[in-house]
Amino acid sequence: MSFSYQTRNRLIQDMDKTKYDLLVIGGGITGCGIALDAVLRGLNVVLVDQGDFAGGTSSRSTKLVHGGLRYLAKGEIRLVREAGRERNALLNIAPHLVTPMPFIIPTSRKLAGAMSYYPMTLGLRLYDHLADVRRYERRVMLKPDQIEQAEPMLAGADMVGGGRYYEYVTDDARLTLEVAKTAHENGGHVLNYVEVVDLVITNGRCHGAKVRDVLSGKEWEIQAETVVNAAGPWVDDIRRKDAVRPRGKRLFHSKGVHIVLDRRELPVTHAVTLLPSDGRIVFVIPRGRFTYVGTTDTSYRGDLRNPVPTQEDVAYLIDVLNEGFPKHSFNKSQVLSSWAGIRPLIHEEGKKPGEISRADEMITSETGLISIAGGKLTAYRKMAERVVNHVIRVLQAKGRATRVKPCQTLTTPLTGVKGIAGTFESFKLRKRAELEQKGFQRETAERLVTTYGRHVDLVVAIHEEDDEQFHRDLLAADVRYAVWHEQALTVCDVLERRHPLFLFSHDQGRSAIEPVAKLMGDMLGWSPTRIHEEIWKAQESVERRNKWKGE
Ligand SMILES: Cc1cc2nc3c(=O)[nH]c(=O)nc-3n(C[C@H](O)[C@H](O)[C@H](O)COP(=O)(O)OP(=O)(O)OC[C@H]3O[C@@H](n4cnc5c(N)ncnc54)[C@H](O)[C@@H]3O)c2cc1C
Repeated sequence: MSFSYQTRNRLIQDMDKTKYDLLVIGGGITGCGIALDAVLRGLNVVLVDQGDFAGGTSSRSTKLVHGGLRYLAKGEIRLVREAGRERNALLNIAPHLVTPMPFIIPTSRKLAGAMSYYPMTLGLRLYDHLADVRRYERRVMLKPDQIEQAEPMLAGADMVGGGRYYEYVTDDARLTLEVAKTAHENGGHVLNYVEVVDLVITNGRCHGAKVRDVLSGKEWEIQAETVVNAAGPWVDDIRRKDAVRPRGKRLFHSKGVHIVLDRRELPVTHAVTLLPSDGRIVFVIPRGRFTYVGTTDTSYRGDLRNPVPTQEDVAYLIDVLNEGFPKHSFNKSQVLSSWAGIRPLIHEEGKKPGEISRADEMITSETGLISIAGGKLTAYRKMAERVVNHVIRVLQAKGRATRVKPCQTLTTPLTGVKGIAGTFESFKLRKRAELEQKGFQRETAERLVTTYGRHVDLVVAIHEEDDEQFHRDLLAADVRYAVWHEQALTVCDVLERRHPLFLFSHDQGRSAIEPVAKLMGDMLGWSPTRIHEEIWKAQESVERRNKWKGE
């Protein structure tokens, strides 16, 4: 069964006849990670998301799989250790989606405490040790002239030295999608655009949810022995649907904004960790023809579905760039695109957003609803392992799930690299050469192999039937594959998450909107009105992010 709209529709038809071991609410990285862990152990699992996979915070992060240097500065040793180990684990199970990248971190006379030179020297060494950093990725301390040589953009910065260390970059939305698809391939029922409208409570226990297909309006009940609420920023909304009032911990929403510039305007050769004078950390990360900068960290009370950057957020990041790269001058007109995401943190009385711990926490209510909040993209696998261990204990206490396997996710490759022989690097070089021989440009060949891993052959086969190109970074074959094999159901699913042209392209993907809508309309049988609506929604999504320009 392919991971397509047809499979989704078929599953919806039969779902009210099934009793699941586990219902997961939320198709961000947390929920998808839990669903994958649970199916691999042999549980009967369903996952629903009110929108697209990674449609919430999981497509709006800094896109780092990181050891958590920032947590070290705050003394959160457990987080650093766990993040470091998980970083290594992800490099094994998803090498096509995780790329090691050298970071330069300059420090100046103005900086005090953990970020001044000598504490940083020790801190980075401790980081290597705690995060189990691979030998050739360990920190190297640099003198100011060595930093300037390595990263000429930093020339003229008030530096007393700094360090070079490694973090890994990823595509958060694709990582989430691959985890979802791997769960599907292992027997999970994984559905986007199905919203939980209420919880089903019988005899004081939570036994499922009333759900609604957002696309057709159909409503039904999902029956499940256990229910995990992995709704990210919406965790408390789901808790409020429980029969008992939420008690104890509650969420705190913090907004983080990123801006994207043309790489020629901000031509860093490394990622740079800037330490502005307000004591925060801001990353400058090259990504192909673009460089993105982020993030901010401010408390948030607005619309959770569509958070947007403000003029103030963008001005802050531009100021940080001007402070960090004093020989260069940046202004808002250079910003090509931007995005905002909401951190679902656990509220801590009296603390500012930047001071709140990023640790995750599981809360079980009196009805048995298990809510998971906080945490990081990086540590999703470990977080899922803890949650599923708990789910299994609950099931076993009821005499169920007596023959489950131990956690398998540490050694189970995600779908894009399942079964490839040798290292991903050798696979990539071989495939890229094959594609170049078939006439693909090097850039496209590289993109296709790193995006799809072993599924690239199927995308190329589709391209051989329809060789249209909609955008420099988008083939008609990408769209067809997204609909047939990645459960893409709207234009934004394709252009925001599966191929994020809204974020990383000079025209913010505008020129691709209409052709993508027409092709999807053809494939999914949309009426002219629906095609028109899809075009409008996609354009609206682009313009919403640009609203700050008119403030
Ligand atoms: C600005 C920023 C930068 C970050 N950078 C990093 C980073 O570089 N590295 C890192 O490791 N972490 C980073 N994080 C943290 C990381 O992104 C989050 O911890 C993670 O994405 C949260 O995932 P989630 O699945 O819990 O939430 P989400 O991704 O928001 O998923 C929750 C899902 O629940 C669904 N949902 C809600 N209500 C319902 C309902 N009623 N019915 C059905 N579905 C529902 C939503 O539609 C949503 O898709 C960053 C976060 C932010 C905001």
